[in-house]
Amino acid sequence: MLPDNKGMHDISTEPAGLAPGWQWTNSFAALGADFYSPIAMQPVAQPYVVGHSASAQRLIGLPTDAWQSGAWQQIFAGNQMPTGAQPLSTVYSGHQFGVWAGQLGDGRAVLLGELTPPPGHGDTAQEIQLKGAGLTPYSRMGDGRAVLRSSIREFLCSEAMNALGIPTTRALSVMGSDHPVYREQPETAAVVTRLAPSFIRFGHFEHFSHHDLHPQLRQLADYVIDRFYPGCRSDTGLNGNAYANFLQAVTERTAKMVAQWQAVGFCHGVMNTDNMSILGLTIDYGPFQFLDAFDPGHICNHSDNQGRYAFYKQPNVAYWNLYCLGQALLPLIEDQELTIAALETYKTIYPQAQDACMAAKLGFAGVQDGQRELADDVLRLMAVERVDYSIFWRRLSHWVRARENNPSQQIHSVRDLFVDRVGIDAWLLRYSERLTHIPRGLAADLMLATNPKYVLRNHLGELAIQAAKTKDFSVVAQLLQAFEHPFDEQPALESFADLPPDWASGISISCSS
Ligand code: AMP
Ligand code: MG
Repeated sequence: MLPDNKGMHDISTEPAGLAPGWQWTNSFAALGADFYSPIAMQPVAQPYVVGHSASAQRLIGLPTDAWQSGAWQQIFAGNQMPTGAQPLSTVYSGHQFGVWAGQLGDGRAVLLGELTPPPGHGDTAQEIQLKGAGLTPYSRMGDGRAVLRSSIREFLCSEAMNALGIPTTRALSVMGSDHPVYREQPETAAVVTRLAPSFIRFGHFEHFSHHDLHPQLRQLADYVIDRFYPGCRSDTGLNGNAYANFLQAVTERTAKMVAQWQAVGFCHGVMNTDNMSILGLTIDYGPFQFLDAFDPGHICNHSDNQGRYAFYKQPNVAYWNLYCLGQALLPLIEDQELTIAALETYKTIYPQAQDACMAAKLGFAGVQDGQRELADDVLRLMAVERVDYSIFWRRLSHWVRARENNPSQQIHSVRDLFVDRVGIDAWLLRYSERLTHIPRGLAADLMLATNPKYVLRNHLGELAIQAAKTKDFSVVAQLLQAFEHPFDEQPALESFADLPPDWASGISISCSS
């Protein structure tokens, strides 16, 4: 396995400075050699900036002019190691498509360490991970690289999800290069720099549990609890069992995250247990899709032949995955009933979270009696006619705003989305009746801040990718701008909120990335 550094030049020698008081720390590395393999940098020739997020940058105290610095560009391309970082790839296992897949691990991701703010700063330390930075001992049959198209999709979607208020790993940048990568056809390599307080997955726990490495399993759980779930130590619920409380806390976060996915129409596409974050973050953007036409059975991953990860199945799959985590934590919890009790939380938290999300979409400040029926009924109408999901909710929000000022306001823009006018009129009548009980202004304000105008539809990603392939990165920047303010009217970017063009349905996204 040769590092692909042939022809590399241009390595900058200027230092990559951090903001005052910030420093590299390496807490994952301190766990010890059982948890990872050290990695040497594998440079690519002449990297260039494809996109970067100023908002992600603010999380790590990076100087604003970092993108003008050759040193930072080289670091984020995986060409140069920052002083103080300790590059490594972590080992994990997992269930893929419902089957135990054995050892996986970071096959193309390198963790540099975490950038830690000065004491009293308020921000949490962020791990810096380079995805697509070359071969690791866990690369198996892969080449350790990521292609430009999937890197652009991950970059944009990470930042879009964050702006939508959905927990996610962040993306700082995409660095491109002309380094060739072979998938179904020749493509070029890119590196996404991802940020998260931790990239630990359910699969990390499954790994040590499967191999009966219980001291390491405990060490990992203690590490995560101490850093991210300290309340589990003092929680008196579940017999005061810290590991059961940890499982319950992860269950809650996961349930809330998936409820947000469903509400915004996000299909993850590969909900394997190695793609489930222990912090309840959306992680590993691959063949994901924001729904265009509403189809509960939509399968966004071309490789998912059985439809295991179809849109409507996501809440159940998350629960299934949590059971895998529960099974993995059983040697620490040491009590099957407690483990099940922790997991059972899902059955109350998920419906509550879903109801809360749907209430907000409908403009209700709290969950209302009979609301679930109201929401289900309109979703059913939308499913029958494959109505565009985001456009429906946005138009409904605008109608509610207009109606607040003029109760006789016509509703053509919503009705026009349906052929079955009788069905939608009957629903709108029921809905209007509820709106009359809400103080003026409140419903529309809530809806316009809940139902996004801009989502990363597949065809938008495709526009950015096609332009980027010709080294025109302006569409990446424009889309980032749209998605950073998904609830705002942005007249210059209006076309990104349009119905998808006909060719959008022909886009096929598989696991190949
Ligand atoms: P994913 O389905 O993308 O989450 O990946 C599943 C596993 O395959 C993980 O262990 C990845 O690190 C690994 N993997 C995916 N693509 C590559 C690649 N091009 N080179 C090496 N490993 C890869
Ligand atoms: Mg993955």
